[in-house]
Amino acid sequence: MSKVLDAYLQENLKELRDQGLYNEIDPVEGPNGPIIKIKGKDLINLSSNNYLGLATDEDLKKLAIAATQKYGVGAGAVRTINGTLDIHLKLEQKLAEFKGTEAAISYQSGFNCNMAAISAVMTKQDAILSDELNHASIIDGCRLSGAKIIRINHQDMDDLRAKAKAAKESGQYGKLMYITDGVFSMDGDIAKLPEIVEIAKEFDLITYVDDAHGSGVTGLGKGTVKHFGLEKEIDFQIGTLSKAIGVVGGYVAGTKNLIDWLKVRSRPFLFSTALPAGDVAAIMGALDKIMESTELHDKLWGNGRYLKDGLQKLGFDIGVSETPITPCIIGEEKLTQQFSARLSEEGVYAKSIVFPTVAKGSGRVRNMPTAAHTKEMLDDALAIYEKVGKELGVIS
Ligand SMILES: *Cc1c(COP(=O)(O)O)cnc(C)c1O
Repeated sequence: MSKVLDAYLQENLKELRDQGLYNEIDPVEGPNGPIIKIKGKDLINLSSNNYLGLATDEDLKKLAIAATQKYGVGAGAVRTINGTLDIHLKLEQKLAEFKGTEAAISYQSGFNCNMAAISAVMTKQDAILSDELNHASIIDGCRLSGAKIIRINHQDMDDLRAKAKAAKESGQYGKLMYITDGVFSMDGDIAKLPEIVEIAKEFDLITYVDDAHGSGVTGLGKGTVKHFGLEKEIDFQIGTLSKAIGVVGGYVAGTKNLIDWLKVRSRPFLFSTALPAGDVAAIMGALDKIMESTELHDKLWGNGRYLKDGLQKLGFDIGVSETPITPCIIGEEKLTQQFSARLSEEGVYAKSIVFPTVAKGSGRVRNMPTAAHTKEMLDDALAIYEKVGKELGVIS
């Protein structure tokens, strides 16, 4: 064991623990459904990204088991050697249909998509304009490309226009790209895609939308680009298969040329083993469900509205969300953490999110209602919110 490494780890771990910033992870003892068991206790789960309840769906479990029986548990190789199974291609066709594009490519995770796609087209001669609240994987993907990164104030279209104009007129850069989340996961606000497309046309920006929190949720389930009818305008549609879709993986949807390029130039496709068949089969089943019926989508939005109305009536500040994501803004960091801990003791699992993930003084408990929650569960959660809110003086 290296003494240098050990000293480094000890010192830094101690510092985090002393500051109360070391995240202790509580394992879930069973399925990640609307009720989860932690330390032997059942809690109403308002923290998962399992928007449509598909992570525990019985039909999808059967599909995964059948495909595992047929193909085995692993794909055996990277896609470009012999890890491409026939069902990977079927999945990619279905993803293109789902997103309304010519083609699609799947990856092992949404995080990997951003590692893969940005640096496959952007280089150090280029510049990327990026919303300041974009997901960590977008930030890392941008860094990996070596392109100049220009931060855009959150959803500030005047700032985007001004910086796009300056970048274009400077003549310093080759290609310019604008990257945004489709739905921002901390506040639940939706990217202003019509204005973005307009600005992109004016200044020749490549457009890149990571709709991890939008697919299955916005656009009657088909995502934020579909919500605005801009399938022909957005160059890169990124999605994850681990949130509303309920399984694991990610994808990029776009033109055939874009996908052909990613198949030869994106490193996680070339150098990391393909998704297992069981996952692929479950994902295809989930996509079929979402494309065939809006039932789960409608249930999700109904539950989102119900929870928001309930919290608002109790006097909580629920921010500016336009989606089922329901932040409950508490403010001060310590109080926010205490609030979340008391909710958990009373039977609601809702995570606190504080600086530096969100701005100082805007600590919040974030609630993710799903299609799988019942009205009774939400009523129980609201009663606990009322009790804890009064106890800690957040509401009167
Ligand atoms: C969650 C998320 C990801 C990561 O997706 P995984 O499939 O979990 O790796 C990427 N981008 C955004 C915007 C996300 O919200």
